[in-house]
Amino acid sequence: MDRQLDSAPFGYFTLDDAGMMMEVNQTLLRLLGYQLHEVQGKHINLLLPNASRSFYQLYFFPMIRLQNKVEEMYFSFKSKDGQEISVLLNALRNERDGKVFNDCACLRMKNRIEYEEVILAAKKDTETRNLLKAKQIAELESLRIELESKQKKLLAVNESLLEMANTDGLTGLRNRHYLQECLSSYFMPDTEQFLTLSFLLIDIDYFKKVNDTYGHLTGDSILRKLGNLLRDGTRKDDVAARYGGEEFALVLPATGKVEALEIAERIRCQVENADWNTYGVTISIGVATKVPGDTENSLQSRADWALYNSKDNGRNRITFGMEE
Ligand code: GH3
Ligand code: MG
Ligand code: MG
Repeated sequence: MDRQLDSAPFGYFTLDDAGMMMEVNQTLLRLLGYQLHEVQGKHINLLLPNASRSFYQLYFFPMIRLQNKVEEMYFSFKSKDGQEISVLLNALRNERDGKVFNDCACLRMKNRIEYEEVILAAKKDTETRNLLKAKQIAELESLRIELESKQKKLLAVNESLLEMANTDGLTGLRNRHYLQECLSSYFMPDTEQFLTLSFLLIDIDYFKKVNDTYGHLTGDSILRKLGNLLRDGTRKDDVAARYGGEEFALVLPATGKVEALEIAERIRCQVENADWNTYGVTISIGVATKVPGDTENSLQSRADWALYNSKDNGRNRITFGMEE
């Protein structure tokens, strides 16, 4: 063999059509750990691991016969000490002196395999990271859903707390605090000048005596009955509240003096004639209607003054609080 080919930087061997190795260069012999006499004239199977043998039979030989060449075929040799050595093989079918040679050149593929392994590892790593990311996104989503439902519950709790803070425990009517806020809203600069508004203060007559006679529990029950009566008798925008003790208040928007007095009289009669009222309970009422320049305090003061007058004039009556 040509000296240069013998020590070329690639493996070189020739095969006849029966697969016998006719020539093998030193580079390939060194790579596989053989001496020339150990391989020359032997079948190529000597240098192949089992998997490559069938590949060689089924692929290499049919192809080189059909196309006279094989390009970039990737397969493995087996070295004398049993190691698999990957190579990239090119082969040409040549004729010299009337004989057919399958000339093969092969390059060791160590680096490429290492690169492929690095790429595969990186790909696997990316897949793992993607899976982790998807898992974290799913966890985040379930946390978000949990947070949303907790927020909803919190809102509901806040709502019921607000409801409790605005409600009188005994009668279920609005309490004094809510009433003051509601009244304030009617005296905001924008609403003040346009809105007609009446305010009623209602106080049970001689309630102390009712308690003393029938007991405190009966007194409570009367307060609840009166609360129901006020709630049932008011419109959607009216506010019925327990003002304190045995005093109640009604805020009546869009209601002038005449209508307010009618409402007050109707309530007074209803209490006097209620079927639960076997105790002879009566109420006194003070009525005030908003005038220009009124404040929430001046309106309440006039109703208070009117109530005082109802009491002073014999109770079980209504009085209108005149402005000075
Ligand atoms: P007047 O006609 O002048 O209003 O006489 P009155 O007895 O109703 O007024 P007074 O202010 O002297 O007494 C109010 C009574 O209301 C005394 C108190 O025991 C009673 N009272 C206040 N709050 C409650 C309550 O929640 N339940 C009961 N049962 N009684 C209450
Ligand atoms: Mg009172
Ligand atoms: Mg009273």
